[in-house]
Amino acid sequence: MTAAEIRQQFLDFFASKGHQIVPSAPIVVKNDPTLLFTNAGMNQFKDIFLGNKPAAYKRVVDTQKCLRVSGKHNDLEEVGIDTYHHTMFEMLGNWSFGDYFKAEAIAWSWELLTEVYKLPKDRLYVTVFEGDTKENLASDTEAMEHWKKYIAEDRILMGNKKDNFWEMGDTGPCGPCSEIHVDCRTDEERVQVPGKDLVNNDHPQVIEIWNNVFMQFNRLKDGSLEPLPAKHVDTGMGFERLVRVLQQKQSNYDTDVFMPVIHATEKLCGKEYGRTEKIDIAFRVIADHIRAICFTIADGQLPSNTGAGYVIRRILRRAVRYYFSFLDVKKPLLHELLPVLAGQFAKVFPELLQQEDFVKKVVFEEESSFLRTLDSGIRRMEDFMGGAPSKNVDGKTAFELYDTFGFPLDLTMLIANENGFKVDEPGFDAEMKKQKDRSRAATELDMGDWNILQDQPSGVFVGYTELQSPAKVLKHRKI
Ligand code: ATP
Ligand code: MG
Ligand code: MG
Ligand code: MG
Repeated sequence: MTAAEIRQQFLDFFASKGHQIVPSAPIVVKNDPTLLFTNAGMNQFKDIFLGNKPAAYKRVVDTQKCLRVSGKHNDLEEVGIDTYHHTMFEMLGNWSFGDYFKAEAIAWSWELLTEVYKLPKDRLYVTVFEGDTKENLASDTEAMEHWKKYIAEDRILMGNKKDNFWEMGDTGPCGPCSEIHVDCRTDEERVQVPGKDLVNNDHPQVIEIWNNVFMQFNRLKDGSLEPLPAKHVDTGMGFERLVRVLQQKQSNYDTDVFMPVIHATEKLCGKEYGRTEKIDIAFRVIADHIRAICFTIADGQLPSNTGAGYVIRRILRRAVRYYFSFLDVKKPLLHELLPVLAGQFAKVFPELLQQEDFVKKVVFEEESSFLRTLDSGIRRMEDFMGGAPSKNVDGKTAFELYDTFGFPLDLTMLIANENGFKVDEPGFDAEMKKQKDRSRAATELDMGDWNILQDQPSGVFVGYTELQSPAKVLKHRKI
């Protein structure tokens, strides 16, 4: 089954259960101060959950473009190293807005996985919220009772708040959840160690695929929980993980979701995927990051020096560094992958194809500009590490790399870590602050000139309305 067929089957299955198929919301969030990017399917329905907006349909189904590189859900460091966390991924979801609840959600998720997708029942585990005394939350006995109708009791595991109480961010709708995990190990491995010991344990072949959240609460600013006006179902299944399981691959990257881009990269760099781990990581990081970069630009977020734009710039620079250092490609490469992605997603996310030339141009410009300083930046770093008295990159050097060579701090940290070095983050922050103070002083000077200009009867120069604040860069740099 192709990835496209698997996606369609999900949508069709829930459509057959009375769900309206709706489009993905943009991956870039423009009107929510608590979020830069969509990090789950439920984001676009937040106001319905909170009771601020009526639901147009009681039941909907969709595939949502998500990005997890900042805030509460940040998977950037896993990407490429493991085989199932991406920056950008599709979250398949079915929703009930004050309509059906646990009984139907559980029954349908089981039916879809075991009868439509035909996953063997003895490969599945489910988890149920065990409760939390600190928050005075009861264990989810209701979900437990429903699961018992379908799956052997020893395959139902109790889970703690970290894994089985879903929250979008520090505030917002949340609730207990029940997750489904698949054990993809060989029979021999399964005999040696029981799968239930590996659930939620970062085992590369025992992976979480689907989260069924039962939305009941709203987390307020002071940390307390208040009940929502109505109860809802919010589910999220990682599309790339599902495809990997159904296509029986060892890694999400081996599926037809990622292989077209990996093959295109092989052609461009003249190296083969699947030979050495170090080079493979570079292939995977590029195949992952190009998606995040393209979809965010297509949804209106240009790379820049602040806020969400800086998140995109950092992801892009990270990808450039991977092909530059590990695939030996010294000229812009990412933009060449765009036609592959645009073609692949033409039906499901046509916005990429519609803006292909524009996105390609933006990516090309960004790559070209970083490639102008990357080489000297890497040499600067190597010289520094070669002569450093300790395994520490001081704040001044990290800041020089940022300011002169365009190295985002997380890139400096990545290269430092690869060489057994640590980066003095507070030192970097202090240097950043000094620069901010300098630029503020310079701004005041500029404003002085501006005042003089303003005094002129018919000044032609209208001045700048906004100055980029390094403080914003700082605020969002931790990803
Ligand atoms: P994990 O524990 O693997 O990090 P999660 O518990 O953080 O996943 P949820 O917030 O429950 O994930 O999201 C719902 C589903 O989305 C998950 O069950 C998984 O299939 C998928 N998913 C989550 N994060 C990623 C990611 N970074 N890349 C790909 N799929 C993901
Ligand atoms: Mg996670
Ligand atoms: Mg999890
Ligand atoms: Mg989860």
